[in-house]
Amino acid sequence: TLHHQIVFIGGGSAGLTTASMLLKKNKSLDIAIIEPSHKQYYQPGWTMTGGGVFQIEDTVRDKKDFIPRQATWIADRVVKLDPDRNAVATKEGILVEYDYLIVCPGIQLDWHLIKGLKDAIGKNGVTSNYAPNYAPYTWELIKNFPGGNALFTFPNTPVKCGGAPQKVMYMADDTFRKLGVRDRTNVMFLTPATKMFAVPEYSAILDKVVAERGIDVKFRHNLKEIKGETKEAVFDVFDDSGAVVDEFTHKYDMIHVAPPQSAPDFIKQSPLAVSGSAYGWVDVDKYTLQHNRYPNIFSLGDASSLPTSKTAAAARKQAAIVAENLLAFIASQPLLHKYDGYTCCPLITGYGKTIMAEFDGYNGTVVSSFPLNPVKERWIMWMMKTTGLPWIYWNRMLKGEQFEGDYIKFMQWRQ
Ligand code: FAD
Repeated sequence: TLHHQIVFIGGGSAGLTTASMLLKKNKSLDIAIIEPSHKQYYQPGWTMTGGGVFQIEDTVRDKKDFIPRQATWIADRVVKLDPDRNAVATKEGILVEYDYLIVCPGIQLDWHLIKGLKDAIGKNGVTSNYAPNYAPYTWELIKNFPGGNALFTFPNTPVKCGGAPQKVMYMADDTFRKLGVRDRTNVMFLTPATKMFAVPEYSAILDKVVAERGIDVKFRHNLKEIKGETKEAVFDVFDDSGAVVDEFTHKYDMIHVAPPQSAPDFIKQSPLAVSGSAYGWVDVDKYTLQHNRYPNIFSLGDASSLPTSKTAAAARKQAAIVAENLLAFIASQPLLHKYDGYTCCPLITGYGKTIMAEFDGYNGTVVSSFPLNPVKERWIMWMMKTTGLPWIYWNRMLKGEQFEGDYIKFMQWRQ
């Protein structure tokens, strides 16, 4: 049995950022990070890999270089939570006790919920940017596409980075035009949703983008099966009330699938999960990020119940709130810092074009960190997406540093 004052489940985007911020505020905190992976990925870069802009190697670094020096790294996987005893159990059989727990193990990709997908993916035209082993295959398919049906899907669950399933499509569309195969290609976006994006302003501009590009959008369509043998995708079709009214089958020559997603199973099966919800997110207060039943537990990032769009940009803002509020809680002070639902999903709408879609996820309203109208496709935001943000992620965010000023410096440097 081990004991640490503060234990993290997961040292990914949210965990590393929060741990670094805490140690910047107080070096003497006794922090352990339970994290099984020896690699740290810049997941937003997988979209760029699928679009042929980055190599997959550009998106990965060694975890050891990002675990803060003053923290203890337990390279193991949590399998069981026992919040009534303030302990977690790992796969290797270690019991780790804590005074305070921060839960941020990310999201689970539920490939198995689409029939035939697990067997079909990674070959014969079936791909996904949601995993580093398939993102390079996306680019193989796009750059060698001879024409035909190119399908892009969105699942009927919340996902991390709600824009990712369509960013890849705009890069594919650009590439098909460059290759001269677009006129014999049918580009289709199939989604259970009834609009292109959660925020009306961004949705409206995306409506224009798909119309200009001649992309066939099918709302109320949910992928349920991939038939690898015959290269067919099968969808449930809903009516306005959400009832299934039809089935739609379409041939594909390539299909990019965003898999259904939920909280990791060990969270779902624990007392920390939102009760009665199939997704199983960690049940936290949406402002303080403190657990609704266990006050010495906080959660942030993709695994949390925060009702905003799940992104690394959101996790960065949440990390600052958790760090402040946990220190206040340890000092028996009130939790004064409140997360406002901020999130950001830079919408690549083609090579050299990005809408920096920043928004308040709690109210569905547009916000901006830049002195520019965000509801616009911009070259400078493509530069931000492909060079600025990855640099900030590795050199500022994961190290727990504030960097609002860097945005402005970046823009001055580009002008
Ligand atoms: P993660 O960063 O996934 O980290 C979770 C960590 O927990 C991992 O290191 C994992 O190994 C560990 N873990 C898992 N299970 C256990 C366990 N049982 N015990 C201990 N540790 C465990 N975000 C943006 O802001 N902008 C974008 O443009 C963007 N684009 C994206 C495109 C794609 C294709 C994808 C896949 C994601 C994108 N994201 C984007 C989303 C972003 O990557 C995530 O929202 C962010 O990484 C969430 O941070 P997290 O710490 O909650 O989860």
